[in-house]
Amino acid sequence: MTIKKITPYQILDSRGEPTLQVVMTSDSGKSASFSVPTGASKGKFEAIEKRDGDAPFGGKGVLICLDIINNVISPKFIGYPLDQLQDFDGLLIALDGTKNKENLGSNTLLALSGAYLKLSALENEKPLWQYIAELNKTSPEYPKLFANIVGGGKHAPGLDIQEYMIVPESTSPSVAISTIYDVYHTVQKIMKNLYGPSAMLVGDEGGLAPLGTSSEVILEALSQLNGKMASNFDIALDSAANSFYKDGVYNIENQSIHAAELYKLYQEWNSKFNIFSIEDPFAETDIEGLEILKGMANQEKPFLIIADDYTVTSKIKIDEFQKDGIFDGIIIKPNQVGTFTETFEAISAAKASGAEVVVSHRSGETSDSSIVDLAYGIGAIGIKIGSPARGERVEKYNRLLEIEADLDANQKKAAGSQQAPTGPAPILRDPAPTSQSAPPVSQDMPGAPVSSNNSSPQPVAQFQPPTSPLAQPKAAPTLAI
Ligand code: PEP
Ligand code: MG
Repeated sequence: MTIKKITPYQILDSRGEPTLQVVMTSDSGKSASFSVPTGASKGKFEAIEKRDGDAPFGGKGVLICLDIINNVISPKFIGYPLDQLQDFDGLLIALDGTKNKENLGSNTLLALSGAYLKLSALENEKPLWQYIAELNKTSPEYPKLFANIVGGGKHAPGLDIQEYMIVPESTSPSVAISTIYDVYHTVQKIMKNLYGPSAMLVGDEGGLAPLGTSSEVILEALSQLNGKMASNFDIALDSAANSFYKDGVYNIENQSIHAAELYKLYQEWNSKFNIFSIEDPFAETDIEGLEILKGMANQEKPFLIIADDYTVTSKIKIDEFQKDGIFDGIIIKPNQVGTFTETFEAISAAKASGAEVVVSHRSGETSDSSIVDLAYGIGAIGIKIGSPARGERVEKYNRLLEIEADLDANQKKAAGSQQAPTGPAPILRDPAPTSQSAPPVSQDMPGAPVSSNNSSPQPVAQFQPPTSPLAQPKAAPTLAI
């Protein structure tokens, strides 16, 4: 099978900003499409996206990528065989010829690489996750869901920390997702009771974005809900500390502090709320922060340290940091590097260093759900797909449910016919759930009795926000008249 046609489109992402979609068609008439996400809180060394730089769309259009694909790429790749991702990506990388993809653009390359990968899987009549697993010789495993419950930073107004997440212990997608659903909606009710209608705001990843709250209030609410849902869960943070670091100082919740004090704050949160992991705890340019991390390298830490902006899905960066064993987990985002081949190399480098792999969406997403197949196919320990709110995030939750349902059906069929299933057997870390219904909301569940109808959970006890000075909400901004 070969490439017959490559059709690029300028479409909009979840923030309504232009992005690139490529539809690739084979000579058998099958088509696959891939659309590229965009970050807001980016690492300094991410591969560079190509954008028009001129109106319309405030210069953010990607019509230049359409030109590149139509005039430079298509003439070279029509008739090119499928099923050779490494060679295909290698040619794209060589055509670009730069270290950071600034010539053709990481968005141009990723749209082509993704469409080629998906079309190859389709031609092989394999689900994408299976094709990826076979390509990488990995064992598929359900990832843990790092679900964004409350957002801040560059994704939402209000809080300085970018993401307050829960990580259900259950790796059964349906149990984990029902837990996330219950926590999300209960926290929303708590927030609505405490802060009024702003609790209905959501950030770029669907996380709740109440105004006038604090980290301690959010963490307290999450920790009080633990143990009361279908699955127990851990609490995880993505500080995305680049976004509140300026001139050598972290400006967080009315304090201006240095790395050592910020680390102390994390420790306090950990002792009160038991934090599982913190992503990008310091700014990538902060030497003091990096020294703190180096001092703890290869040791058991109070919480896992996860790298995103530090490592930007680059094998070179991962090797550089991991020779010192600095990170316990590495975030993988294909658009940080520009091709799937390089994404797979980054995953191998992270795994070889002993770090856990967490595949991630971007804050500006599309309806493409390939990262779910990627996470499952390469056996990532985790995946970040935001909140079960906003269509582009829900699309990814739904893909996970679809994979689970298909595998369950295959297993039942195989058990019925006493035949082994085809393709790599999924390795389930949890037994299949015995019940898929949402848990009863316990009578001592904290939260506000704000319910628009009688069939939704009725949290009874009033949630008590913590009284520590750190928990005091930020002063509301005043308008100068
Ligand atoms: C993140 O920092 O993990 C993230 C998803 O944000 P963005 O896409 O804005 O970089
Ligand atoms: Mg991050």
